[in-house]
Amino acid sequence: MLQNAEQKKCDKCFAYKPPRTHHCRVCRRCILKMDHHCLWINNCVGYWNYKAFFVFVFYATTASIYSTIIFMSCVFQKDWDPIKGSSLKIFYVLYGTMVVGLTITLLTLFGWHVYLILHNMTTIEYYEGNRAKWLAMRSGQSYRHPFNIGAYKNITLVLGPNMLKWLCPTAVSHLKDGVSFPTLRDNS
Ligand SMILES: [Zn+2]
Ligand SMILES: [Zn+2]
Repeated sequence: MLQNAEQKKCDKCFAYKPPRTHHCRVCRRCILKMDHHCLWINNCVGYWNYKAFFVFVFYATTASIYSTIIFMSCVFQKDWDPIKGSSLKIFYVLYGTMVVGLTITLLTLFGWHVYLILHNMTTIEYYEGNRAKWLAMRSGQSYRHPFNIGAYKNITLVLGPNMLKWLCPTAVSHLKDGVSFPTLRDNS
């Protein structure tokens, strides 16, 4: 069994460390299915709050795209010639730079997490997987992320089985214990 094989002890907590769990140095504790420690929310993103984090990134991205569209349409509709003062122009340039920069950043973050969800990976597992792939390649083997059980199933494990509740951050009744996860071997 893969999950038994991966059972470890945390060196710092001196406690059982379930699969996909990592010790966060900032939070000083083990985090189930740890994704990353987020400086913006001053907390870890892991098993229990990953859906809320993802939905938050989705709404923030949508809002900033909406804001960019409103801004662009405002810029193109405005009759710029009669405006003599440059302060308004500076405001537009500053705001445009900020909103476009924010939109690109959030879109990248959102796209990255869509990729991770589709492959049932955490940010940490992505980098660990790269190393495992490289090591497997050197020994002439192939490596496949064990928790990737198909795109749709991967989505339902994070966002829930009911599609109507996918964008509701508090609909997390599908979360179980964060200790055991279905793997490819369970399905085959
Ligand atoms: Zn620990
Ligand atoms: Zn943390």
